[in-house]
Amino acid sequence: MSFNVYNTMTRNKDEFVPYKEGKVGMYTCGPTVYNYAHIGNLRTYIFEDVLKKSLEYLNYKVKHVMNVTDVGHLQSDGDDGQDKMALGARREHKTVWEIAKFYEDAFFEDCKKLNIKRPTIVCKATEHIQDMIDLIKKLEEKGYTYESNGNVYFEIDKFEDYTKLAHLSIDELEAGSRIKIDPNKKNPLDFVLWFTNSKFSKQIMQWDSPWGKGFPGWHLECSAMSLKYIGEYLDIHCGGVDHIAIHHTNEVAQSEGVIGHKWVKYWMHGEFLVLDSGKMSKSSGNFLTVSTLEEEGFSPLDYRYFCLQSKYRKQLVFSFESLNDARNGYKKLKERIATVLTSINQNDVTNDEKIGEYKEKFSSYISDDLNIANAFTVLFNVLKDGELNNKEKSILIENFDKIFSLDLMTIEKETTNVDEDLINKLIFERAEARVSKNFARADEIRNEFIAMNIELLDTKEGTTWKVK
Ligand code: AMP
Ligand code: ZN
Repeated sequence: MSFNVYNTMTRNKDEFVPYKEGKVGMYTCGPTVYNYAHIGNLRTYIFEDVLKKSLEYLNYKVKHVMNVTDVGHLQSDGDDGQDKMALGARREHKTVWEIAKFYEDAFFEDCKKLNIKRPTIVCKATEHIQDMIDLIKKLEEKGYTYESNGNVYFEIDKFEDYTKLAHLSIDELEAGSRIKIDPNKKNPLDFVLWFTNSKFSKQIMQWDSPWGKGFPGWHLECSAMSLKYIGEYLDIHCGGVDHIAIHHTNEVAQSEGVIGHKWVKYWMHGEFLVLDSGKMSKSSGNFLTVSTLEEEGFSPLDYRYFCLQSKYRKQLVFSFESLNDARNGYKKLKERIATVLTSINQNDVTNDEKIGEYKEKFSSYISDDLNIANAFTVLFNVLKDGELNNKEKSILIENFDKIFSLDLMTIEKETTNVDEDLINKLIFERAEARVSKNFARADEIRNEFIAMNIELLDTKEGTTWKVK
């Protein structure tokens, strides 16, 4: 079965064939840590998490690298506006380093709540300044750069096919990115590789370089870190769609400029989450966070479930009403699963062939450019399949949850359907097993109680129980 993904570079659903058989190098653009991640950002990280877990499900060994931007990102993805980190520091009367540490921790805390797995390597821009300087030197040697008013620029006219990722003409790119006329630039789309004091005289984060004291441009860090940790052949590069026209286009120019050949095989982009009232943006302060959702009584996994209901390549409109619908759907699903998990007969025999057929179906949908909606249909079919016993169902639920990551095997207290007759029967059987020294059976029964979320209390009067 082939794994097919929509590739922004080819504008096609391409069969996924990594550079090295069985192994995947994957790079995802990480957060700029000057504020909390908003739920739009997190939709993109959920998509990337599903992608990575799907690859792992299909037995690829994935090396996932993500950067943390703690320097160099200006308000616009072009070269104007304020330094975001400095803005955050001023807003909160803290140092830029304190801001970076606080929001990086907050970001990973949110990811944990959303069951987003930590990348194999997380790398900070400020810890890779020398790598970035080395990259600029190489670009300089190859004639791609020029200095102007103290800054070092990448000259896009020197790079053949600068527009290939965006599939736009230079004029369209210029119009779309609303880049301001900058007299220092030869072409308005040229971008900064190294800023010196000519840009921000009071810049706190700055380093020595052959071009003067300063700091790197934002686009540079992703090229430098992905080349360092994954190398010249990168299988998958991801981000949100907003990155296609500027950030990723510039990354291609820098990386391919240095290595002299094709760099990324598959570019994958997640569409935006928008509010029903319009665009969500960190800089305008108009944004929702995981904490906002929690304050409104939703769990982070309600939000993960909500995101999984729509295709990653389609824009998703957020409203609390639709989140509420998702929560109800998720709750019902968990209740149905709890019924299965609490009624497993450990003596049941499992039919591997039938289980295999379901896994196959599930894989085929995942392999169709992450068709998660259809993958959920497979789960629902499993739940209503009268020929599957509960043990078989639980095996499949656990298996599918490797990608969904919705804690489907955890029984919520309120969703425990207590079957008192069964509990009393098992308590009696456990007592008998203990008397006859059949400790294996007694342990087995104890595990069944754990699965049912039931706590046994052995007292002088006998064994009682309660829902944990
Ligand atoms: P940033 O921290 O702004 O660099 O963004 C982090 C990630 O979130 C990037 O991959 C962006 O493309 C993505 N992103 C930004 N806004 C949204 C949004 N509203 N919906 C989905 N993804 C977004
Ligand atoms: Zn990036």
